[in-house]
Parts: sequence; C-alpha cells; structure tokens
Amino acid sequence: MVKKSVILVFLFFLFALPVHASKWTINELVENASLLDGVVVTIEAEAIGEVLERGEFAWVNINDGTNAIGVYVPLDEAKKIKYFGDYHHTGDTLRFSAIFYNSCDEHGGEMDLHASSITVIKAGSPTEHPIDSLKVIVFGFLAFLTLGIGVYFYHTVKPKRVHGHQSEEETE
Ligand SMILES: [Zn+2]
Repeated sequence: MVKKSVILVFLFFLFALPVHASKWTINELVENASLLDGVVVTIEAEAIGEVLERGEFAWVNINDGTNAIGVYVPLDEAKKIKYFGDYHHTGDTLRFSAIFYNSCDEHGGEMDLHASSITVIKAGSPTEHPIDSLKVIVFGFLAFLTLGIGVYFYHTVKPKRVHGHQSEEETE
C-alpha cells in the first residue's frame, strides 16, 4: 500500500511538473527568479512598446498581464512582429521558448529572456477607445449648445431692433 502511494506521488510530480514547466507567466519567472535562472521556459505574451535594435539582435518588450520583461532575440525574429501594444494598438501575441536569466552577465546583470526564435500566434490590431467617442459626443454637444445659444440670442436681440425700427417708423 505504502509503495503504491509513493508511486502515485512520484507519478503526480512526474506529470504535474512538466505540464507546469511547459508555460510560465512572467510573474512566475520573477517570483521564482533564482530557481529558474538559466532554465528554458515557454512564454506567451503581448509585444509592447517598440523594438530596440542592437546590431544583429534586438530587444522586444513583452507583457502577459502579470508582468513585463525584455526578450533578447535575433533582429530577423523581431521583424516578424507587426503590432506593438501601446495606447493605439493591441500588440501581436507571441509564443516562444527562451532561456531565463535572473541576472544576465551579457546584459549588465539585468533580468531577461534570450530567445532564438519567436512565433506570432495572434496578430494585433489598432485599438478603439470608447473615451475618444465620448469626447466627440461631448464636443459635438457643446458645439450644438453654443450654436443654440447663438441662435437664441440672435432671435431675442433681433426683434428688439425690428421693434426699435418700427417705433422709428411710427414716430415719422
Ligand atoms: Zn541578456
């Protein structure tokens, strides 16, 4: 019986660990940084900001909603990315395997990822902002209100002039 449970526990770890290791969130990397130093991890995240070219290589910043990190990739790989997340765009979703460095010797002790290739699994797109539509509506309303006030004064002031003119006629 004891042997059976040991085997079950062993099997649990054997299967559970690789399943978890297959994909990590950036925050999990940050939280387990010293344990995962130098380990190959698979990441799925949105490309954000812009590419920073460094000769044959480039830095791509990614964010998966839990955290953000820089990925060092060959420049040709970085060029696969069309959309980078910012105020006006949703960035391409990338999936790739990379070596995680808690303190990268090559890059001044920074925490980073080194990937030899990246795959765009979902294309990004320009973003629409409900707040922009609201601004247009508010602006339109104010313009309409200004016009309305203008028309109101035009009609209330003008009759007085007409009245004055009429009274001049009456006195003649
Ligand atoms: Zn590095």
